[in-house]
This record gives sequence, structure tokens and C-alpha cells, in this order.
Amino acid sequence: MRFARLRLNGFKSFVDPTDLVISDGLTGVVGPNGCGKSNLLEALRWVMGENRASAMRGGGMEDVIFAGAATRPARNFAEVALTLDNSERLAPSGFNDSDILDVVRRITRDAGSAYKVNGKDVRARDVQMLFADASTGAHSPALVRQGQIAELINAKPKSRRRILEEAAGISGLYQRRHEAELKLKGTETNLTRVDDVIEGLA
Ligand code: ATP
Repeated sequence: MRFARLRLNGFKSFVDPTDLVISDGLTGVVGPNGCGKSNLLEALRWVMGENRASAMRGGGMEDVIFAGAATRPARNFAEVALTLDNSERLAPSGFNDSDILDVVRRITRDAGSAYKVNGKDVRARDVQMLFADASTGAHSPALVRQGQIAELINAKPKSRRRILEEAAGISGLYQRRHEAELKLKGTETNLTRVDDVIEGLA
């Protein structure tokens, strides 16, 4: 799936609606210090389901909402929309009936985040899976933060393995295995409880 367009509204320094067309040949974004280059990359990560505020360089997730400036009041919400070209039908099943996928995440103060794909409400997990199965996502090795290369060099083998797994496109499977294990554990607990009840009745 190819990223075709990124729209931001009220996200960090992008207080006004901003439309970035990601056309073939785009290799970099340049600009003076503090103009918002890293914020663009963070917007990409955020719309793909990033849920660690620290990865957004903030203390809480609401810190991504435009916080106000000398001449502009703070905003009450932030929205990022990512348009994907799915004409090759590489999206996982459930998302594969359209040439274009429009993934939107919106955060409202005191109300948290909500996601939509092509106008339909979806869960954060659905969006995270959509990108994990497509070998991209908030933790994709294709998105390199400042300082990340140094971190990689000093990383333990286990962290490096995670990067290889992302690149191999199997991180979605790990997520599913983890969820299955949690369900299994819940079921085992329920069974133990049923045994206790049966014992109590005997
Ligand atoms: P550099 O080249 O120095 O790395 P950059 O172009 O990557 O800079 P960013 O780090 O993306 O710039 O943007 C930093 C700017 O975003 C700062 O001016 C900061 O005040 C602004 N900013 C960050 N979060 C918010 C927010 N919630 N509300 C308003 N402005 C914000």
C-alpha cells in the first residue's frame, strides 16, 4: 500500500488544515529548525495507532493537540488523515474492498482518540493490525526518529530481532498470538472458577 496523502488539522504546530500530497519522487522534507518536519513524521506514526505519548515527545496523548500561541488560542481537537493507495489490494481482509483507504484518527480533549477507515468507526486495534499486516505501522523500521540509529547500535539482540520481524511482516502474527494467549488465560481462569462452583455444589 502506498501512502498517497497526509492531512493534518490542529495536530501540534499544524493548527490550520494542511494537506501533504505524497507523490512519487518525494524523498525528503526540508525546512528551518522548528518548522514541523518531525511533527509530520509523528503525525504519520500517530494516525497508524501509536499509543505511547513519549513517542510523540509529549507527557500525555493530548499534547498532540495544538497548544496555542501568542496570537492563536489552543484547539480542542487534533485530526490526522492518511490516504492509502490500495489499488493492488494489499490491505488485509476486511479492508480490501476499496482502491483508496482513508484512515482518520481524531483526539478530543477529555474524550480520547477515535478512528475511522473510509468513514466507518473502527477500533485502534483494527488500524494497528491494518498497518502491521502491511509491514508498516507506528513502529515500522521505515520511520527513523532522531537518535534512533544510535539506539539501534546499542540495542540488545531482542530489540534488534523485533525490527527484523517488522521487516519480515510477521509482527501482526505476534500481536494475534499475544491476544490468543490472553484469551486462553482468561478461559483457564473461568474453568477453575467453574470447578470451584461444582465442588461447592457437590
Ligand atoms: P528540527 O529541525 O530542529 O528538528 P523540526 O522541523 O523537526 O525541527 P518539529 O520538532 O517538528 O520541528 O516542531 C517543533 C515545533 O512544534 C516547535 O515550535 C513546537 O513549539 C511546536 N509544537 C509541538 N507541539 C505543539 C503543540 N501541541 N502545539 C503547538 N505547537 C507545538
